[in-house]
Amino acid sequence: MEMRRRSFLALAGAAGASGLLKTFFGINLGASKAYASSRPPVRGKVTTTICPFCSVGCGMLVTTAGGKVVNLTGDPDHPVNEAAMCSKGAALSQIWNSDQRAKKVLYRAPGASRWEEKDWDFAMRRIAERMKETRDKTFEERDEQGRIVNRAMGIGSLGGSAMDNEECYALSKFARSMGTVYLEHHARL
Ligand code: SF4
Repeated sequence: MEMRRRSFLALAGAAGASGLLKTFFGINLGASKAYASSRPPVRGKVTTTICPFCSVGCGMLVTTAGGKVVNLTGDPDHPVNEAAMCSKGAALSQIWNSDQRAKKVLYRAPGASRWEEKDWDFAMRRIAERMKETRDKTFEERDEQGRIVNRAMGIGSLGGSAMDNEECYALSKFARSMGTVYLEHHARL
């Protein structure tokens, strides 16, 4: 079928998006529409937020009810994504809802093959001990030319995508106060 741009647009207006997809691309939205209309409306508290997974920073609308995330969509008013989201962002509710989420401290001792459940006091104490030990062993007051540097070369800091701006700020301040010079974050595009 030969089609000019103007007549294509005229036809598009008349047919609507769904009819257009079916006519020109052979895509039938019937099943998707039936599924969408069979679902009950989602009710709950809607909160705006920013996707933490990458530095694009898409805006989202999160609906919560009964302590659970019951719906999550792109925010149509957000200038970055205008309601669109990638598959990673669309799966964000799993951060809260997933039954595979680790909710307890798990510790595997050096050389051991099994994880043990521990409490938070054990974890915090162990982390503090290891950080102090590593910092003491690797701290450099001066570089090769004798200049004062005060840096802990044996410790690095890696931020995770579920951290927000304020948490990243606090972590970087803490890391620098320890003398850490290797700061990185995985959310880079
Ligand atoms: S991970 Fe996807 S949804 Fe999230 S900010 Fe990046 S592009 Fe947007």
